[in-house]
Amino acid sequence: MGSFMSRRYNAFSAYMKNRFGSPVYKVIVDAGFTCPNRDGTIGSSGCIYCNNESFRPNSCNPALTVGEQIKRGIGFIKRRYKSDKFLAYFQPYTNTYAPLDELERLYKEALANPHVIGLAIGTRPDMVDDQKIGLIQSLAEKYFVLVEYGMQSIYDKTLQFINRGHDYRTFLSALEMTKNRDILIGVHIILGFPTETREEMLAMAEELSNLPVNFLKIHHLQIIKDTPLAVLYREDPFPMFSYDEYIDFVTEFLERLSSRIVLQRLFAASPGNVLIAPQWEKSGQEAIRDIERRLASKDTWQGKQQKIHSAQ
Ligand code: SF4
Repeated sequence: MGSFMSRRYNAFSAYMKNRFGSPVYKVIVDAGFTCPNRDGTIGSSGCIYCNNESFRPNSCNPALTVGEQIKRGIGFIKRRYKSDKFLAYFQPYTNTYAPLDELERLYKEALANPHVIGLAIGTRPDMVDDQKIGLIQSLAEKYFVLVEYGMQSIYDKTLQFINRGHDYRTFLSALEMTKNRDILIGVHIILGFPTETREEMLAMAEELSNLPVNFLKIHHLQIIKDTPLAVLYREDPFPMFSYDEYIDFVTEFLERLSSRIVLQRLFAASPGNVLIAPQWEKSGQEAIRDIERRLASKDTWQGKQQKIHSAQ
């Protein structure tokens, strides 16, 4: 196991603490962006699992300015944790989906707070271009700037099933545009789609290991109320991971994933009032504890079984 990993996997919290000397927390910002897969530009019904409305913290209100949301968000976090370093996380919907000057104004407004050390910008791979990446690069020269691309899967059959509105090649083009700059690249994937076999899901770890990806968020598939997937699941339920199967699967996935990729998330923890399935009733903390225990009992760790060494 590499000595740089404080746990058996390369965890985001430890990475940030090492890099900045103290914990760094994310403050979610809703800058009022929309999504081209909802407003009719690419599609109107959205990704089949998406219900962005369900996850918005109270401090995050698009009626407030970005600066005010950050101030309130920091105040809220500071009541629970000691920290004076924060990342402004532009999370809901598609946070590069606006004209260039508008993006510049919003990102700079976030960075104007003296406690904000950088940005995390969640977006779709089909919503960046050279100019937007150029703007983000100019900020990344001075700040920690992470662009998080929703990839979800490397399989076009899955991207079609979930109505993503883009294919895997589009994701690879966005990576090409973003790599070899100061910008850090994050990726979101979802594990457990009924369109993929266990082996296909595991193969994603090997594929990601060979891409210029710095950070990864893994979610298990969840069926959320008021989504097209909820309708589909009610009409034709498909098998989902049990909790124990998922814990075991994640450990195998991590074994095949390059140890240089920093894990931001390994588990989705949607609120019970919006969650239809799976009903595991486990917190994120419990899941992390069980994943770490499983890694220890198997005496394994991230990257142990990596077949293809990173091209990075
Ligand atoms: S998951 Fe993201 S891209 Fe898909 S519909 Fe929701 S906001 Fe849009």
